[in-house]
Amino acid sequence: MSALRLPYPEICELECKACGRCVAACPKGVLRLSEGFNPRGYHYAEYGGEGCIGCGRCFYTCPEPYTLRIHLPARDKAAKKAEA
Ligand code: SF4
Ligand code: SF4
Repeated sequence: MSALRLPYPEICELECKACGRCVAACPKGVLRLSEGFNPRGYHYAEYGGEGCIGCGRCFYTCPEPYTLRIHLPARDKAAKKAEA
């Protein structure tokens, strides 16, 4: 399956305060705190690059507005028709 059709988190490095809640909440263990710092001096959260299932737990647990969002692939037409 194309990587473009898989869910993935997008993290705004600048806004992350490194609280680690998303890392703890992720059931797949695909988030971590970076070794590097963001411009505000925090070890921002980052995605390992694969394994996200799009559950949204990281999004709902992040206390910082506009810091974390999840991209979900659009369902294809056949799947939508089957559900109709
Ligand atoms: S959406 Fe779920 S699986 Fe994906 S990074 Fe967030 S908590 Fe982990
Ligand atoms: S929950 Fe939000 S602020 Fe906390 S480490 Fe994750 S992305 Fe950063």
